[in-house]
Amino acid sequence: MTIPMTDLTEQYRALKPEIDEAIQSVLNTGAFILGDEVKSFERAVADYTGVSEAVGVASGTDALLLALLACGIGEGDEVITTPFSFIATSESIARTGATPIFVDIEPDTLDIDPRAVATAITPRTKAIVPVHLYGQSCDMTSLMSLARTHNLRVVEDCAQAQGATWQGQQVGSFGDCGCFSFFPSKMLGAYGDGGLVTTNNADVAERLRVLRNHGAKTKYYHDTNGFNSRLDSLQAAILSVKLQHLPEWIQKRRAIAALYADAFDKMAGVDVLGRNPYADHVFNYYTVRVDGAAARRDSLAAHLKDNGIANAIYYPKPLHVQEVYARLGHEMNDFPNAALASQQVVSLPIYPEMTPDQVTQVTSTVASFKGFKYIGE
Ligand SMILES: *Cc1c(COP(=O)(O)O)cnc(C)c1O
Repeated sequence: MTIPMTDLTEQYRALKPEIDEAIQSVLNTGAFILGDEVKSFERAVADYTGVSEAVGVASGTDALLLALLACGIGEGDEVITTPFSFIATSESIARTGATPIFVDIEPDTLDIDPRAVATAITPRTKAIVPVHLYGQSCDMTSLMSLARTHNLRVVEDCAQAQGATWQGQQVGSFGDCGCFSFFPSKMLGAYGDGGLVTTNNADVAERLRVLRNHGAKTKYYHDTNGFNSRLDSLQAAILSVKLQHLPEWIQKRRAIAALYADAFDKMAGVDVLGRNPYADHVFNYYTVRVDGAAARRDSLAAHLKDNGIANAIYYPKPLHVQEVYARLGHEMNDFPNAALASQQVVSLPIYPEMTPDQVTQVTSTVASFKGFKYIGE
């Protein structure tokens, strides 16, 4: 039996009556762009996150781009971020005309290191974009304190972390904006693309609503260059159903992660990632480290695949050495923690519907990889 990274068909089967009804009601009203479905989903996410406003957009990437623009980031600005993320993080910074300034990650959690952020601040620095990687919050106490001291905007990349908290407070509620993705593999997966920005700033929310809709506050009256970047009503209707299940799905992901950790704690050669005691992880992805060089991780990945177990490398090449940023002149070892992580990480299947037997199938397949063995048994 093969095990996928995530299984949205299983989830659809469980929610079919609710989801079909939500889709049908949009079809019956014929209102597909913005409208009540989007408004009520935005309200529900704002309440869940503990912020005053939420603005639905076309994707997580657009959420980042529009949030940075709404915060006034542009040409000549420097924005500090992590080199160990999906390209969308730095791509959206560059798209505003600003320069992404990469700094290293913490060696254990793989989240951006606030001490490295502190040393990278210059008079041109305008913002920090922390990424709550895999579902674990960054150290928001340190980052927000730096931002206050240096008058920087903070745009949180929450694409992998909806529902995660730092000291009990939801990610996406610390910075000027929180950016969420509804890409199918994320915590709240749509049936297509979708994204959303949270904020406590009414002016920023207003700018976001104008930007997502061709720069118009009033239809056909354009105050600024905007985008066509709206959350579909159909996706909003589906996501409204799913959002109600998010807390229960997070609990299930945590239970699966605990089973994984139990098994891997007893296994030599494969290490679970570090946990920050203030961060309540939601495990959008379950990622482990394989000791040694990339070749060893890659052969474990191949071994899993040969045995019907899906896996993914998030991410095999850090952002600072991507061709697109060649002009920044970085070398791989400028950020040694990110460099090492890119050689050692592998993410394993995790989704709320995954059974304990399936977890065992994954862990015993890892254990059967040559060179790994259970210790203390
Ligand atoms: C998925 C993801 C994004 C982009 O989201 P899309 O909805 O695919 O555009 C941005 N940042 C991170 C860290 C992500 O994982």
